[in-house]
Amino acid sequence: MPTSLTCVKAGQGQVAMQNIPMPDQPGPGQALVRTTLSTVCGSDIHIVDELPVPAGVPMGHEAVGVVEAIGPGVTAFRPGDRVVVSCLLSCGVCVRCQEGNSQVCQTFAAPNNLLFGAQGQYFLVNGAQTSMAKVPDSLEDEQVIFVGDILSTGFGAIERAGLRTGDTVAIFAQGPVGLCATMAARALGAGLIIAVEGIPERQAMAKRMGADIVVEPNEAVQRIMALTNNVGVDVAVEALGHQATFENACAVTRWGGTVSSVGVYGAFPTLTLPTTGTFLHRRIITTLCPVGTDRMERLMRLIERGRIDPRPLFTHHMKLEETPAAYERFRKREGGVLKIALRP
Ligand SMILES: [Zn+2]
Ligand SMILES: [Zn+2]
Repeated sequence: MPTSLTCVKAGQGQVAMQNIPMPDQPGPGQALVRTTLSTVCGSDIHIVDELPVPAGVPMGHEAVGVVEAIGPGVTAFRPGDRVVVSCLLSCGVCVRCQEGNSQVCQTFAAPNNLLFGAQGQYFLVNGAQTSMAKVPDSLEDEQVIFVGDILSTGFGAIERAGLRTGDTVAIFAQGPVGLCATMAARALGAGLIIAVEGIPERQAMAKRMGADIVVEPNEAVQRIMALTNNVGVDVAVEALGHQATFENACAVTRWGGTVSSVGVYGAFPTLTLPTTGTFLHRRIITTLCPVGTDRMERLMRLIERGRIDPRPLFTHHMKLEETPAAYERFRKREGGVLKIALRP
């Protein structure tokens, strides 16, 4: 039986490289993919450090690779295809998939909805028919990998907020997801984009990705209210996952505006709605990464035409077998790290 050197959860807060068995032949609806590029995501840290996910689980849910083998029922792909994979899996036929909400597919319900093992030499994709997209020859792995996760989340945060052309947007935190929301706000026609960030490297990246103004977190509410003549923004995106940031996002949203929350509040068992004047008359929405073949193909079209370029998010490059060290670097935010490219 072939094996794959893969990063696995070794215990609470710990990961390690381990050879795990892979099937010779994928099962029904599955594809076996050989990884050419992977990365570490903020959700990985939540899974390893906070969630009761058992030890031994193969880690990683963002990858580009080459299809090695397909199982029965997979007709859209064949061995040799270069593909990018959705972080969340979908069947394409259940009612949620049919209504266009494949991120909450009923066939692959949590916790089986997440792609696992993408931080390995090989990994299996369930629901391969609708959870992968072919990568155009003109695009590099580094250009497309984020369409399966953070780029789709960033666009989802802006799209689901109902952004109108010319709207004013504030985006709290410019980590990888926040920067993708900034890119999306520009691509989708925001009028004024205000980014909230305190780390100098991330402030610079926010400007590069489309922010008009960057403000410090500790003066964000005051600055944003002043910049909007004390009216507030049309859309505020929370991309950090902290109570204080959520409250600030509510505080700078105008009456009738939208608070779009995509941060993962992993460390907070409850999130409290602020009631002192900033809760009423706002729309509060949350977004789970929209996924599926069609979604990824459309985002790749934006990249292919040069409308957006997510490549600068890769600040570091490491070998796939160094993935545990990449977790440490990512967790500690060493050296201005945003995303780490992991290659076999
Ligand atoms: Zn992720
Ligand atoms: Zn489904």
